[in-house]
Amino acid sequence: MIYLKTEDEINLLRNANQLVGQTLAEVAKIVKPGVTTRMLDTLAEQFIRDHGAVPTFKGFPNPYGSPFPASLCTSVNGVVVHGIPNDEPLKEGDIVSVDCGALLEGFNGDSCYTFCVGEVSEEIKHLLRVTKESLYKAIDQAIVGRRIGDISYAVQSHCEQYGYGVVKEFVGHGIGREMHEDPQVPNYGRQGTGKQLKNGLCIAIEPMITLGSPEIQLMEDRWSVITRDGKPAAHFEHTIAIHRGKAEILSSFEGIEEVERQNN
Ligand code: MG
Ligand code: MG
Repeated sequence: MIYLKTEDEINLLRNANQLVGQTLAEVAKIVKPGVTTRMLDTLAEQFIRDHGAVPTFKGFPNPYGSPFPASLCTSVNGVVVHGIPNDEPLKEGDIVSVDCGALLEGFNGDSCYTFCVGEVSEEIKHLLRVTKESLYKAIDQAIVGRRIGDISYAVQSHCEQYGYGVVKEFVGHGIGREMHEDPQVPNYGRQGTGKQLKNGLCIAIEPMITLGSPEIQLMEDRWSVITRDGKPAAHFEHTIAIHRGKAEILSSFEGIEEVERQNN
């Protein structure tokens, strides 16, 4: 069942997602070689709670194992999604996808950004650039009258033209009072298929793209999803609303990109 949001509900979703954007910008400030993903998690949890919100991921149930133990998913290099923060220092040349969720005044924010740790290879920079581009190409399709398949196709066609892998087992989703609502928003599909997009539809679009094969496997921790070939993966996610006919991005990379500009 798809819940289309009212103007007031979109405002609340925007607030939650702006907080997630600010949290990721705080993370951006400290990502560097030697920092651990647990340090990123501690910072994010404090920031979210200091702003009157709750980290949605913490305690998130897992049908295959124990609840998620942290506030961020931190997925390093060959980890695609759902990496658990730990005490291993990040190294020069690593990438880390930081997925953040926060519940504020009953509404969910959800956004992810893949960060470079120090200087990374040109090959990986290109993967990150194309994955992020595919997210914006998908958002361009999120207008009234288009269909979910148009969003899906935009991601898939953009990434596959460079030979990258599109992970199919995990998808974007509706978002609102629940972090995961209908409809599902796959990163692969055919133009002109699926549910038609309407004003008030709020969805998270989140391409998960691999440098090599898109085949994945679940680790023993029952959370971390890794590429089978061990090659790196990128993950960028925005929460958007279809508002007055077109897409409004409710989350934000602006704070992150400001930090990136200062570092370069
Ligand atoms: Mg997310
Ligand atoms: Mg999501």
